[in-house]
Amino acid sequence: MSLKKRIDRLRVWIRDRLSGGCRMLSQGRECTCVLCDFDRICEVAKEAKEVAKEAKEEAQAVPFSQERNFEILQNCFWCGLNRKEQHDVLSKLGVFPVNTTNTAMTLELLAMNILLVGGKAGDLWHEVMLRLPENKRIPNPFN
Ligand SMILES: [Zn+2]
Repeated sequence: MSLKKRIDRLRVWIRDRLSGGCRMLSQGRECTCVLCDFDRICEVAKEAKEVAKEAKEEAQAVPFSQERNFEILQNCFWCGLNRKEQHDVLSKLGVFPVNTTNTAMTLELLAMNILLVGGKAGDLWHEVMLRLPENKRIPNPFN
């Protein structure tokens, strides 16, 4: 499944589970509902790389071993970093709005996939390892 399809599916999934908020009509830039956060992240990603448009080809070009390395990277991200560190890493790499606090974990996952497809998994690896204790760090397979 292409990243764009995943994004569309995720948006529908969020909307279906949203109570109040922007379920029917957007409440604008100041809204902090999960759907608006999601749309903001998609916006940031689009501006950065137009990833949504080219995601299909690029996703298919990701080699298998990278998929495995990306799983390891995600494990370190989820288990080794606290929420603030997770947000810091993703905003530093430009796929997350600065100072976002009200998010679902699916949004971090989406942001990480955008980095992978955009060839930035090595940068993400670097930033994650920096925040782990030295004895837990793994050499970067993406560089
Ligand atoms: Zn909203």
